Amino acid sequence: MNNEQAAQWMRQTAKMLAEHKDELSKLDQAVGDGDHGVNMERGFRAVMEGLDEWQDLALSQLMQKIGSTLVSNVGGASGPLYGTAFMRLGSAWKEVDHVDGPAWVSGMAKAVEGIAQRGKTQAGEGTLLDVWSPVAAMFDENEPDWKKIEDTAKKGMKETENMVVKKGRGALLGEETVGHVDPGAVSSFYLFQALANTMNE
Ligand code: ADP
Ligand code: MG
Ligand code: MG
Repeated sequence: MNNEQAAQWMRQTAKMLAEHKDELSKLDQAVGDGDHGVNMERGFRAVMEGLDEWQDLALSQLMQKIGSTLVSNVGGASGPLYGTAFMRLGSAWKEVDHVDGPAWVSGMAKAVEGIAQRGKTQAGEGTLLDVWSPVAAMFDENEPDWKKIEDTAKKGMKETENMVVKKGRGALLGEETVGHVDPGAVSSFYLFQALANTMNE
């Protein structure tokens, strides 16, 4: 992935999150406060508005800008989590201008670690980490298999339906969250689907 593809990834994500805004908020009505779609649409719209200005930045700096923009514009618990993930990609890719298999491995490991620290969470607690964590594990030294990555994101998303949410607002409902897919896991699926679409173009 080069800078132009990274920008395209963000545009695709912004478009998909805008299209699925109501769906994401509706999912959040069941296990939270019903604003996840609004939050994500606002955050990625701000990223999209920044992209033109950031086009000459190194990939690492671009990731940092995306991360800090998400922290300040998403609002809600998901903002610092997505923001930290992108900032960690930025710090992992300091010497990188083309993200290959090994760079994805190190970047995604840092991103997952960042989400876990920031959310005081681990995989299996019914959050967006249940998409990020298995997706991170799919990268290796080879060129990424984007179809496989999209499928893994989808599987991780679906598995949150059977989980008792242990972190965030959903944790207040305990067992009642079983039967509901996690909204943050769904937005993360769209993010990785947008990545797969971009990289397959
Ligand atoms: P808020 O809950 O503040 O309204 P959002 O609705 O935008 O924020 O985001 C909710 C999503 O954030 C959840 O579906 C979940 O995936 C994620 N989330 C919330 N808290 C945590 C946490 N501590 N660790 C990991 N993910 C979390
Ligand atoms: Mg919410
Ligand atoms: Mg909220």
